[in-house]
Amino acid sequence: MASSNIWQTPVTYLKGVGPNRADLLGSELGIHTYGDLVNFFPHRYIDRSRYYKIAELQRNNAEVQLVGKIVHLKTVEQKRGKRLVAIFRDETGEMELVWFRGHKWIRESLRLNRTYVIFGKVNWYNGFSMPHPEMEFLEDHQKSLSNGMQPVYPSTEKLSNKGITNRVIIKLQQQLFTETGGRFQETLNSDLLNELKLLSKTESLFKIHFPKDPAILARAQYRLKFEELFFVQLQLISKNIIRKHKIKGFPFEKVGENFTSFYENHLPFSLTGAQKKVLKEIRNDLGSNAQMNRLLQGDVGSGKTIVALMSMLLAIDNGYQACLVAPTEILAQQHFTGLQELLSEMNIGIRLLTGSTPNSERRVIHEDLSSGDLHILVGTHAVLEDKVIFNNLGLAIIDEQHRFGVAQRSKLWHKNVSPPHILVMTATPIPRTLAMSLYGDLDISVIDELPPGRKPIKTVHRFDTNRLKVFRFLKDEIALGRQVYIVYPLIEESEKLDYKDLMDGYASIEREFPKPQYQISIVHGKMKPADKDYEMARFVKGETQIMVATTVIEVGVNVPNASVMIIESAERFGLSQLHQLRGRVGRGAEQSYCILMTGHKLSDDSKTRMETMVRTNDGFEIAEVDLKLRGPGDLMGTQQSGVLSLKIADLVKDNEILKTARYYAMKVLREDPGLQMEKNSVLRWVYARLMKKKNIWNYIS
Ligand code: ADP
Ligand code: MG
Repeated sequence: MASSNIWQTPVTYLKGVGPNRADLLGSELGIHTYGDLVNFFPHRYIDRSRYYKIAELQRNNAEVQLVGKIVHLKTVEQKRGKRLVAIFRDETGEMELVWFRGHKWIRESLRLNRTYVIFGKVNWYNGFSMPHPEMEFLEDHQKSLSNGMQPVYPSTEKLSNKGITNRVIIKLQQQLFTETGGRFQETLNSDLLNELKLLSKTESLFKIHFPKDPAILARAQYRLKFEELFFVQLQLISKNIIRKHKIKGFPFEKVGENFTSFYENHLPFSLTGAQKKVLKEIRNDLGSNAQMNRLLQGDVGSGKTIVALMSMLLAIDNGYQACLVAPTEILAQQHFTGLQELLSEMNIGIRLLTGSTPNSERRVIHEDLSSGDLHILVGTHAVLEDKVIFNNLGLAIIDEQHRFGVAQRSKLWHKNVSPPHILVMTATPIPRTLAMSLYGDLDISVIDELPPGRKPIKTVHRFDTNRLKVFRFLKDEIALGRQVYIVYPLIEESEKLDYKDLMDGYASIEREFPKPQYQISIVHGKMKPADKDYEMARFVKGETQIMVATTVIEVGVNVPNASVMIIESAERFGLSQLHQLRGRVGRGAEQSYCILMTGHKLSDDSKTRMETMVRTNDGFEIAEVDLKLRGPGDLMGTQQSGVLSLKIADLVKDNEILKTARYYAMKVLREDPGLQMEKNSVLRWVYARLMKKKNIWNYIS
């Protein structure tokens, strides 16, 4: 019965599943149909391919399997109740099987002098014994499908309480294969099966439940993981293709006067190889007829801003406007100041629009925008508001993507008659595997090189008890003319407490670093934006040497003279945040330092985070560790993306399979974008079914 509707057969049709069991399977495990059941995979396996002899047993054996007979049964009285003891014998010796419960039933069902296969944990106390063994007659065991590696299925307390044990699930799976003949519709085409030497669908499903040995299990897992990732990639990539096909982009055909003049006369340094590479990628996109949707990844300090600016100049040269949107007021302000400076000798209109832009100024901006006199608008979310109308927006750049929701990204799409080109910049290096899945619909550029002459930041971990030494070090640095950051955590649930920590910290720093010798700035979330900006500006100008702050300074702030970053209660920060904060220093020519302050009591995860920070400056490596520590679930953006509903593949562990899957998905679509070819009819069929379900499509972009 190799038809497709086998999958939809309600599980109640299966022998051994009555209405009660069907309800439980449905509510506890989401198993409603044959398809659900066969796709309910074991999460581990117990190796039952090996048989031990009694003489071989070791005191530290975990679970073992033996073959032998029961030669004697007795009930032994103990202080606390009775126990049932069977003497079990094989050709090498004897041991005891012991039961503390269920005597009556067990005594009746046990047969003397029949050959059993027994399985369980052995104990040693004046000889070996096995409490409550799993037992089967040898001939039954030989017929069982799970006598090689026994599958263990995820379960719930409710299921075990209602008697739906692992054995029962195994029986149901076995029954399913018997009833259906175990033949399932193939879901990959023969090109893929042959080229990658994959097991068929039928065989891999059978072997995932009933593998004879680890080698065949590995092949079954590979096939199923590949398939899962392949179809995710197929969806993402084909969405990308459709978008490029359907959504015409504004073609920026020429490299004009502004770009050339900037490049030749005003660029304050020469671009790194990586910056040139990504600029070329962006230029190719902008010059094509398709709309660009590109993610630009680059570690903190890698120089994304200049890439953004030069892309905007391309837009202006082709008669379009551009905008740059940042997640915070401080960052928008800083971008604006920086860009204005870079453009100071050029004739380009650039303005800043944020929540605190006065109305009078706002009106002028609105007018200049719609007349086209304004070329570049820098700002915060305020730029996204409906009343902000461009004359001809051609390129929208979003900085620090992870602070932005998908909905906001899509708002930009509607700022012109057809969507402008979109460049999303992020300094949170997302591991490539995850980026490929999360942003499979975006093209990805990576700046993987820092500007020359940067000294790697020295990072150390210090305990609170060493604070005085740390303060002394700060004084030395300040005496050399440097500036320092001292950052306190701000986590919303305990905002009050954090605020108190911050203020206590500030007070003690004021005592340690008295005026007028030292000037201190403080910036935190409870301040008015204007006050924040004022304090920030003082620090940027070098009027203050110490910046005490909460994580508001995390994103993008650029003060090259700052050489020390102290992170208080560093154990309360996640790895990517620590890395972001550290990126605030090391922007100038001087040696910079990051000091992670913690208490003595640290969890294992916190220790790993501190060690990782001390060991490496590489954002991508840090992101990989972060992903391993937290799992993809906690990473920004993954919650809504649907990549977590993977059944068998694991984005962290199955990196290589993911790459293969992506490669083949591209290969298939390059040859046959609409999956119209006869040989791809199977893929088309699966694809269509996936499209009917709610999936990643609804969430991304
Ligand atoms: P980020 O990628 O974190 O946004 P920025 O664009 O703020 O980094 O750049 C960090 C610093 O490096 C800035 O001061 C910038 O002027 C400088 N910079 C950028 N590119 C280069 C380069 N090719 N050579 C030298 N300095 C550069
Ligand atoms: Mg930046």
